[in-house]
Order: sequence, then C-alpha cells, then structure tokens
Amino acid sequence: MSFVKALRCRECGQSYPVQALHVCEFCFGPLEVAYDYDAIKANISRESIAKGPATIWRYKDLLPAEGTDYVDLGAGFTPLVRADRLAAALGLGELYLKNDTVNPTGSFKDRVVSVALTKARELGFKVAACASTGNLANSVAAHAAWASMDSFVFVPANLEAAKVITTAVYGGTVIAIDGNYDDVNRLCAEITSEEPGWAFVNVNVRTYYSEGSKTLAFEVAEQLGWDTPDHVVVPVGSGSQLTKIHKGFNELYKVGLIDREPNVRVSGAQPLGCSPVASAFLSGSDYVLPVKPDTIAKSLAIGNPADGIYALDVVRKTNGAMAAVTDEEILEGIRLLARTEGIFAETAGGVTVATLKRLAEAGTVSRDERVVAYITGNGLKTVEAMAPTTHVTTTIKPSLDEFLRFIEQQRS
Ligand SMILES: *Cc1c(COP(=O)(O)O)cnc(C)c1O
Ligand SMILES: [Zn+2]
Repeated sequence: MSFVKALRCRECGQSYPVQALHVCEFCFGPLEVAYDYDAIKANISRESIAKGPATIWRYKDLLPAEGTDYVDLGAGFTPLVRADRLAAALGLGELYLKNDTVNPTGSFKDRVVSVALTKARELGFKVAACASTGNLANSVAAHAAWASMDSFVFVPANLEAAKVITTAVYGGTVIAIDGNYDDVNRLCAEITSEEPGWAFVNVNVRTYYSEGSKTLAFEVAEQLGWDTPDHVVVPVGSGSQLTKIHKGFNELYKVGLIDREPNVRVSGAQPLGCSPVASAFLSGSDYVLPVKPDTIAKSLAIGNPADGIYALDVVRKTNGAMAAVTDEEILEGIRLLARTEGIFAETAGGVTVATLKRLAEAGTVSRDERVVAYITGNGLKTVEAMAPTTHVTTTIKPSLDEFLRFIEQQRS
C-alpha cells in the first residue's frame, strides 16, 4: 500500500487515478504524484526510516510504489562529504558534496530509474525504454537486466564512448539516433503511442520517474541530522532533478521529519553551450527559449527542457541564482574537485563546481551559508573530456639514473 492519492496536473489541478499518464488531458500540463501527507505523518518517523535499507527505498512512504517488490540495484544513500579543501579554494565556509558518482551505474539516474521501473512493473509493463543523454540509458539497461525486462534505449549518436559501452554491456537494445537529445525525445514521444506496452521512464511514466529525485533532498536532510542546508547547487538538464529536490525538502516538513520550515535557496548550474534555463534567469525572462546544444557536458545537453520553466520558478522563488559556464570552466571544475576532494566527476559535476565557483566569487553563495553541491555523475564515463589535457607526468626508461635525473628536475 502507498500513500498516493492521485496524479494531479501542475497547471490546472485536475486529478487522475494512478496510471501511466504524464500530461493532463485538459490542458497538457505535466502531472505530479499527490500524496496523503497527514497519513504519512502518522506513519513515518526518523526511527522507522533508520531501520530501512541503505537505499532510496528507506523513504518508501514518500515514493509512489504500492508494494515492496522494488527494481533495486541499491541506488541512493550515497555519501554526503564535508568538503573543507574545496571550500577553502572557493572562499566558502560549511560546504558539503552529495557524492552521487558512487551509485550502481555511476549517476543519480539510478534513483529515478529504480522508482520508474518499480512503478512500471506494478502497472504491468514488460519493456523498459527511455530517451537519454547517456546516463539514463545506462541505468535503464542495468535495471531492466536485473528485473528481466527487455529494454530499448535511445541515445544521440555523438555520445561518449564509455556511456555507450557501459549501456550496451547489459544486453538490451541500444538505438543511436543521428540527431541531438531533443530529436531523440521527440521520436520517443511518437514511439510511445505506437508501442503502448513500453514504459518510457522519462515519457509515459515520467510522473513516477521524477519522484526518485526527491531522495536527493531526503538523504541530505537525514545526513545533516534531520536539518536542511541553506543553499544547494544543482545541475540542470531537463530541470526535473532541481524541482524535485525542492519538493523533497518541503515534504520532509509536511510529514514532520524536520522541525523548522525549510528555507533552502536552490541554485542551478548549466553549461554555456546549452543554457536555456540559465539564460532565462540571467535575462529576467519568464520564458525558456529552446536552444541547439553544443557543449562537452552531454548529460545536460537538453535544448528544450521539459521542466525548465518549473526549475526557473524554483530558483527565483527561493532566492537562488544560476550560471552558464564555459567548457573551459567545466574542465577546470572537474580538475579542482579531483585535486581538492579526491572525487572524479563527469562533466555535469564540472558544471556544478564551476557554477559554485562563479556564485562564490559573486558573493551569491556566502561564507556563512551551509551549502550542498550535488555531484551527479562519475568521471569514468566522460574520460574523453579530460584526455586531451590530462597526461602522465613523464615517461622514463627503467633506470635509476633516469629517475634521479627526473626527480632532480622536478625539485629544482
Ligand atoms: C540527467 C543528468 C542531470 C540532469 O538532470 P535533470 O533532471 O534532467 O535536470 C544532471 N547530472 C547528470 C550526471 C545527469 O545524468
Ligand atoms: Zn491540466
């Protein structure tokens, strides 16, 4: 049994029974899962959560699954690490990193996929599918393999080699599309009506998928001793993750798990080569105008973001900020994170660190704030971004003389 009351339209409030539906039939607004928070409040406690598994499913009462037969590779409950060295480098005070690079397939997408496929299976789907910028395909293929579901994942053809290999290895069908993510997404929306038996995790079951990102807020609050940060910095692709982190903090208060009403500033990070939401924020516009992506941060290369307008709204109403960082800054961000905290992030992580640096320099993130930056993907999947600038220090013969000559040079 779950505490889900209905699906509800974000725009007009129309309610629908729980099903594989993601847009409102009246106004085409996106649907959201609505819960009975009073019932959850009566059922949930910090202790009951502590007794749960060390995965996202410890927060099952705030997720949309009916049963406990989860599609679960162990996503979530990743480390929240205090980052004093990075904080010092950026002139910040109390800084933490939510290290989602250590999820089963190396990105936060394992959270949303575990929820989406659990629900898809409950709704009777046998086939898992997605439109992906890479990490989602990787995660869907892995979770589908575990759940003995067939999988069809669709990716742009120009994806990083490691993301293709780490996806194809699971044995599903990987279809590369000669186009960008927005082309892939449009095609998948069309395929959804041709193949009603396929659960496209981010199309027809997107309503459930996006709920998985709330666990990024739940865990941070629990790991801070059931308290909230003052400011979070979140990378933005479709904008779903950012909006759900905000929703997650508020839900904790609604169900009585945190004592004070959360007042978390939510800031968003985008690469300059694909920054429709940051551009709207920086220009003071209420419209997110689609762009054609051209960035090394391929996991964020969504030119027409489904939740862009909602992400913009969250950033504005929480007094957050946004930045659009260059490819150069992204690489520098990856390097800075690795060299200060020993965490190798993918390009999206570089975008987050570079944005944090910009906001720190501008004084938008301040020394006396408790800050959490979300590091959402593993650097091993985008090694080619670093390859041109990251080399062995030297190559020498197996000779002590050569070594001594080298070390002398080094020291002089
Ligand atoms: C997909 C992805 C994002 C963006 O998440 P959205 O919900 O699409 O905004 C950020 N980081 C990584 C590593 C991703 O794979
Ligand atoms: Zn509606």
